[in-house]
Amino acid sequence: MVILSVLVNKMAIEQGEHLNHPVFKSVSSVAQELGQPAFVIGGYVRDLILQRQSKDIDIVTLGSGIELAQKVAALLGSKKIQIFRTFGTAMIRYHDFDIEFVGARRESYSPDSRKPAVESGTLEDDQKRRDFTINALAISLNPENFGELIDPFNGIQDLQDRLIRTPREPDATFSDDPLRMMRAIRFATQLKFHIEGETFTSITRNRERISIVSTERISDELNKIILSPKPSIGFRLLDESGLLQLIFPELHALKGIEEKNGIRHKDNFYHTIRVLDNICQNTDDLWLRWATLLHDIAKPVTKRFDRENGWTFHGHNHHGARMVPVIFRRMKLPMNEKMKFVEKIVNLHMRPIVLSQEIVTDSAVRRLLFEAGDDIDDLMTLCEADITSGIREKVDRYLNNFQLVRQKLIEIEEKDRVRNWQPPISGEEIMEVFDLAPSKPVGILKNRIKDAILDGIIHNDREEAWELMIRSAAEMGLSPKPGFEKPLTNISTQHEN
Ligand code: ATP
Repeated sequence: MVILSVLVNKMAIEQGEHLNHPVFKSVSSVAQELGQPAFVIGGYVRDLILQRQSKDIDIVTLGSGIELAQKVAALLGSKKIQIFRTFGTAMIRYHDFDIEFVGARRESYSPDSRKPAVESGTLEDDQKRRDFTINALAISLNPENFGELIDPFNGIQDLQDRLIRTPREPDATFSDDPLRMMRAIRFATQLKFHIEGETFTSITRNRERISIVSTERISDELNKIILSPKPSIGFRLLDESGLLQLIFPELHALKGIEEKNGIRHKDNFYHTIRVLDNICQNTDDLWLRWATLLHDIAKPVTKRFDRENGWTFHGHNHHGARMVPVIFRRMKLPMNEKMKFVEKIVNLHMRPIVLSQEIVTDSAVRRLLFEAGDDIDDLMTLCEADITSGIREKVDRYLNNFQLVRQKLIEIEEKDRVRNWQPPISGEEIMEVFDLAPSKPVGILKNRIKDAILDGIIHNDREEAWELMIRSAAEMGLSPKPGFEKPLTNISTQHEN
């Protein structure tokens, strides 16, 4: 099927069928006027043949990319042109397309940098500097052979064979720019392609070169792997090439099975990437996928064995949550509410499991709702993806239990509205009523009220909460300021119920 569609698309391109867009006609006529041949090149051509949507068009020309871009922009009536003189490139925004123009170039690298020295070159020089044969295809936009595919490295064959292969000798390709190792694995994951044998061996051999690549670029590729339909492909390749250990040691540490007294634990690396594949069927959210990748990250550091319980990983959820900011900071991932979300999901990921194994009390469900808030659905989605047993009855039983937990969550939320709830008496009010500075007793009183409501001892009601506060404070030797024995309605700025 793939072979057929690649060939059919190749023919359609050669008949100019996919090049009807005004951009291509404009580039073609300006290129002719300037006497400066121009070509569509790289990812856009690859995606055209694979019938993938792409909004980024790269145009390479034998001459000045900037001059060509300026004239094309004028012809298209586009005012959105950006010029980067130092790089000799220009970018036009036309409708929702980004079109980048560059003069054909050849590159030479020095060992300590992935930024090459560049000089003008031929089209073939430009194709040769590209990372993979499938990314080195060009289509002529010139009148004499408009639509002709120029494929000096058999990229079409590799598209048919679903192969990632370098146009040049792979060691030189990867050593010059080691980011290409990550890109190879990312494309293999996104496209479900195979990395050709020599190319993969070379990645393994050059893995240490990854040290000259910036963290941001590595994380960017990692995010693209995580956003793929089946990220486990990429994580297996990262592991097999030896890159995983270098870029993500905590994930690599999940590998391996230990056995004591005939008792084994599961391999947490393979388990994790399986859970990640599972959740990808139910969410496209990058951060829920990250939370999944990190949900068991602290298992190696919390692992214990004793005769009574066998292998345990007590507290791996809390410990894992503490590892999240450390990993995010090192990987230059955002240290904002996205990180906080991942931290929270990792922290809470055992809670629905415990609930599904016990007789569920209202109070336990209320607590979970209170702590998870609006993230409760994401948390449940992770827990369902976390079921990786091969035994059908077991899977069904667990899923069924989670269904009961979900049902209970709905019932309790309808009844008690604790999902985005704020306790009816705020810390500020407690300080005001008892004339306290911020201190431990304020926290104790606040928690007593919260716990009493979550445990169903009092209703979610301001009067009842006030009474409890006065009583608890009296036990602690505190009495309210005169006039504060009963709740005042005008003090609170926070309570919602
Ligand atoms: P995506 O848009 O999915 O990130 P892409 O290959 O379509 O992937 P770019 O990363 O913008 O898009 O790259 C455009 C083209 O530039 C590639 O197809 C390839 O020909 C070339 N290229 C990009 N990065 C490199 C690199 N590190 N080494 C060599 N060629 C590269």
